[in-house]
Amino acid sequence: MSQHLRAMLLPELTALLEELGQPAFRARQLYGWLHRPVRSYDEMTNLPRSLRRILEERYPLTPPDVVRRQESRLDGTVKYLWRLADGNCVETVLMRYKYGNTVCVSTEVGCPMGCAFCASTLGGLVRRLEPQEILDQVLFTQLDAGEPVSHVVLMGIGEPLDNFDSVLRFLALVNSPEGMNLSMRHISLSTCGLAPKIDALAEKKLQLTLSVSLHAPSDEVRDQIMPVNRAYPLEALMGACRRYFAATNRRISFEYAMIRDVNDRPEQAKELLELLRGLPAHVNLIPLNRVAESPLAPSTKPAVARFQAILEAGGLPATVRRTLGGDIDASCGQLRRKYTQENGGSLDPGCGRNASAGDSE
Ligand code: SAH
Repeated sequence: MSQHLRAMLLPELTALLEELGQPAFRARQLYGWLHRPVRSYDEMTNLPRSLRRILEERYPLTPPDVVRRQESRLDGTVKYLWRLADGNCVETVLMRYKYGNTVCVSTEVGCPMGCAFCASTLGGLVRRLEPQEILDQVLFTQLDAGEPVSHVVLMGIGEPLDNFDSVLRFLALVNSPEGMNLSMRHISLSTCGLAPKIDALAEKKLQLTLSVSLHAPSDEVRDQIMPVNRAYPLEALMGACRRYFAATNRRISFEYAMIRDVNDRPEQAKELLELLRGLPAHVNLIPLNRVAESPLAPSTKPAVARFQAILEAGGLPATVRRTLGGDIDASCGQLRRKYTQENGGSLDPGCGRNASAGDSE
C-alpha cells in the first residue's frame, strides 16, 4: 500500500508534488493543511481546484468520526471514542492542566502485551495504528477543545514500542516545525518494557520523556502480572534503561500501579529502591483502577502513603498520581467496551487505565 499522504514528511510531500508538476511552495501549503483538522480537500482554498481533485482521487482523506464524547463536570477532562476509516474504534483523552492541555493518544487497536490488570489487552491486538491515525487524535481533539494542545502522552490503548515505526513517524510529524511544532520535551512515551526497543529508541536520542510501566520490584511479582517480563526480565529491562539514560541524559519515569497485597508491602518499596539505585528516576504511584474482569484490587490509601514515604526517605522522588475524569468512564477502554457491548460486542475491549496520564510532576 502506498504511504498515506498525511504520514509523509515535508520532503516526501515535496517530491510527490514535484511529480505532479507542482512547485515546492504548494507542498508547504498542503503540508500545513494536512496538519490541521480538515475533513475535505475543499477546505484547502489556496490550492488549485485541479490539484485538489487529483489528491482527492488518489489520496482520500480519512478523518475519524466521534462516536462518543464524555466531559467531566469535575475537572473538564474529555474522553473521545473515535471510529476509524475501517470501523475500528480507539480512545483519546484530553486533560486540562495548569501548564497546558495534554492529549493522551492510543497507538494500537487493542494490545498484545497481556498485562493482568489492564483491560485493553483482553481482546488482544486487532491492529496497529498508522502514523496519521495517531496524529488525527491530537488534531481533532485540539479542534474540539478550541484551545491549543501543548503536551502529548502516548499512554492510551496499545504498546507504542510494539508499533515502533509508526510511532516514530508520528513523533516526527507532530514535532515538525511546519506542522504542530510540538516540542519533544512536551511528549511522554510509556512502555511496558520491550527492552530491545528501548535500545532502539535510545539510538534516536529524542528529548521526550520515557515512562516505563514497572509495577513490580522483582521478577517473581512482575512475571505474575506482566507476561513481557518473561521475555525481558528486570535485569534486561534495567540494563536498557541505564543505556537509555546514558544515551539521552533524560531521567526516566517509572509507573507503579499499586495493587493490594501484590506489590505494595514496605519490603517491596525497599526492593524498588535497590532496583533503581544509581539511575536518575522518578516514580509515579498510581492507585490501581479496577477492571471488572480482574480480581486485582487497588492498595489502600495508607499503604500507598507508606510506600511513597519509604521511597522518598531512600532518596527516590515519588509522587502519587491524581486521578482525573472520575465521573466519565475516563479509564481508557471503558468507553470503547461499553460502546462495543451495546453494539453487539463485535470489537475487542479497549484498555483500562485512568485518565491520569501525564499528571506526574
Ligand atoms: N503499553 C504502554 C502504554 C499504556 S500506558 C505501557 O504499558 O506503558 C497505560 C499505563 O496505565 C501503563 O502504565 C499501564 O501499566 C497502566 N495501567 C493499565 N491498566 C491499569 C489499571 N487498571 N490501573 C492502573 N494503571 C493501569
